[in-house]
Amino acid sequence: MVLDTSALFVLEQVPSDWEAFVTDGVLAELEKYKDRRADHLLPLLKVSQATSRTINIVKQAAKGTGDTARLSPVDVEVLALALEIEAKIITDDYSIQNLATVLKVEYLPMNMKGITKVIRWNYLCTGCGKVFKEQHADCPICGSLLRTTRRR
Ligand SMILES: [Zn+2]
Repeated sequence: MVLDTSALFVLEQVPSDWEAFVTDGVLAELEKYKDRRADHLLPLLKVSQATSRTINIVKQAAKGTGDTARLSPVDVEVLALALEIEAKIITDDYSIQNLATVLKVEYLPMNMKGITKVIRWNYLCTGCGKVFKEQHADCPICGSLLRTTRRR
C-alpha cells in the first residue's frame, strides 16, 4: 500500500496487515500540518521514493489526461512510487485516482466511493467563454483565467 496525504488525514490506525509506504513529500505535508497522529503513525510507515524515470512516466500520463494542473509534486511522487513497487494507492484524491486508472495502478479510496471512469478535463475561459482541450497559463485569446471543467 502507498498512502497519500488525504488517506493519512483520515487514517486513525495502520491496519497490521498493511505494508504502508509513504513518500518524503507526504511525510513533509503531515508534519507541516502538525497532524496530531503523526507521532504514532510515523513509526508504522516506510518511506520510499520512486526513481526519476518513473516520475517522468507519471508526468507524461498526467499530460495525457489533463491532470497536470491538479496534481501536486507530492501526488506525482505517490503515483510513481505505487507504479514502481506495484502497490495499491490509498487515496481520496480524484486526480490521483483518475491517473491511477490510466497507469493501471490499483487504488482504494478511504471514503469507498471512488470514481469509475477516467475523467478528461477541459479548460473554460472565465472571460470570453472559449473552451480549450489543452492547458494554458491563461486564455490565449483574452488573457482571462481558465477554469477546469469535466470533458463530456
Ligand atoms: Zn478568453
